Amino acid sequence: MLFPREVLPSLLHLTPEWLRARGLKGVILDLDNTLLPYGDEELPEAYRAWLLALREAVPVYLLSNALPERFARVQKALGLPGHAPALKPWLGFRRALKALGLPAEEVAVVGDQVFTDVLGGNLVGAYTVLVPPLREREFFYTRFIRMLETPFRRPRGVGDERLDHRR
Ligand SMILES: [Mg+2]
Repeated sequence: MLFPREVLPSLLHLTPEWLRARGLKGVILDLDNTLLPYGDEELPEAYRAWLLALREAVPVYLLSNALPERFARVQKALGLPGHAPALKPWLGFRRALKALGLPAEEVAVVGDQVFTDVLGGNLVGAYTVLVPPLREREFFYTRFIRMLETPFRRPRGVGDERLDHRR
């Protein structure tokens, strides 16, 4: 439940072709540290053309644990459907799937955090994709969570052979 289906080096690898090759027809996208560096409200220049191409190809839904005021500003600027705070991993994903009008197995859930994005996406049966966080947060709590995440920041099965060696 904690392993993503795939790990990508950057959001830019998630292209319409990549989705099509996996039979994916929609995207549930995390906001903070996935699409925007933590604390920023403007889409990085490098992601503008990427997002335009993606949303032209498939429906994209923003699902965030951000505070509602900040989320509303960002969402308005991007013009994408979505809601926050979602209380991931437990809540929000079913509502997002309903809004997309797609079955979970045809939807990519994309985010930077194992215990919210990956776990939540796996719980509803979506295709989970983990990307590296755009900006490290300074808070001790987040550093601690990252440490706990480390074993899961790879797809299930990849790297397990090292463990087998010791047997
Ligand atoms: Mg995030």
